[in-house]
Amino acid sequence: MLPNYLARILFWTGARLRNPSLYDRYRLLKQSESWPLERLLDYQFQACRALLVFAQCYSPFYRGRFREAGFEPGRMNSLEDLKGIPLTGKQDLLKYNSDVHTQYPFRRTFRSDTSGTTGEVLSFRKNEAWDSANRAALMRGYSWHGVRPWDYNIYFWGYDLAPRRRLRTRLLDSLQNRYRIFSYSEKDWQKVRARLPRAVFLHGYSSMIYETAKRVGVSADFSRLKLVKGTSEQILPVYRKEVEQAFGRPMRSEYGAAEAGLIAFECPAGNLHLQLEGVVVEEEEGEIVLTNLLSHSFPIIRYRLGDHITLDRSGAACSCGMAHTMLEEVAGRAGEMIVGKTRRYPALVLYNIFKNLYFRAGEVLSYQGIQTEPGRLTIAIEQELTADQHRRLRAECAKYFRQDVSIEFCRLEERHDGRAKRRYFISKI
Ligand SMILES: [Zn+2]
Repeated sequence: MLPNYLARILFWTGARLRNPSLYDRYRLLKQSESWPLERLLDYQFQACRALLVFAQCYSPFYRGRFREAGFEPGRMNSLEDLKGIPLTGKQDLLKYNSDVHTQYPFRRTFRSDTSGTTGEVLSFRKNEAWDSANRAALMRGYSWHGVRPWDYNIYFWGYDLAPRRRLRTRLLDSLQNRYRIFSYSEKDWQKVRARLPRAVFLHGYSSMIYETAKRVGVSADFSRLKLVKGTSEQILPVYRKEVEQAFGRPMRSEYGAAEAGLIAFECPAGNLHLQLEGVVVEEEEGEIVLTNLLSHSFPIIRYRLGDHITLDRSGAACSCGMAHTMLEEVAGRAGEMIVGKTRRYPALVLYNIFKNLYFRAGEVLSYQGIQTEPGRLTIAIEQELTADQHRRLRAECAKYFRQDVSIEFCRLEERHDGRAKRRYFISKI
């Protein structure tokens, strides 16, 4: 753990060298926080048109796409015009990778590699302004909770690195006042436990933070802790409950992806606000379609990220005071299917079953669905169920699957090994 003044100096020195535009972008975001919605949407529209014009000039892939669709970015009048551009998928970014990249001499770019649940690695170059804007958006999210990025933090990220790389990662982490948990071996756990009371924020995979919360016990003092932030995975109600009990703080969520940037961050009032200055989010048939406004080196335009979302359309104002549009829900991966005897069901059904149980009966359960043959589904549950809970769960399942899928229940034994995202549905068909 570094003394605060030193951590701060190191942070800004590093930022000046690596991300010279970070501070200006952060200042802009802190100002736009109080803009009314019309002004935010106007800013968003201008940034979007500028990106599309840039992509037309410098990206062979998008130039071709726009030409085929008869889309002229310079003539855009509103964000509605975006609908004239065909959707882009991950396969497009992989297959036409070099043509998607813009042929523009950026002064500095960073390489980014990202593997999704499908396992294919997407590599691309990120220009400095893009990288900095993303960091600035994250910093703003932290600021809502009284956290500064150089505050002492523990990072729950599932990589089991080779010893030499581990050492290097540890060193880089310590310069950023961060401690990272690599595994859940008893030795590693003892080290984390000793550091937890000094942490100002905890962040990383939601399921790993949940595992930690379960082990913490009641005696520890977390008065320094200001933020517990889960990311990359759905936050189940059971996670929120356990985290609140263990740390005395609600679990906040952040939604984003490497190619998409920071999409939304949860405010102190518990709402997920879209980062309107950096992304355009459309909802098409319940799925997110995203345009990343900073992605000049590798434009991400009308991109199907593959998550189910629901935008808040109530028009209600958030008590935190920000006018940024809210996301009502992020409900996991789109496209995965549970196969019945006669029909197919989106894996989202499973999420809905447990959500209903939570809202109707207050049941908080941690689960995983596994399918190895059509018409049968195994649901593994971490908690021991009472007869009553069993009955309610069966009834809820029957509402969706009727007789089409026979369901077996078992206990979820596997402990999260910290190596990968916890998946809520696994199909082996
Ligand atoms: Zn809010």
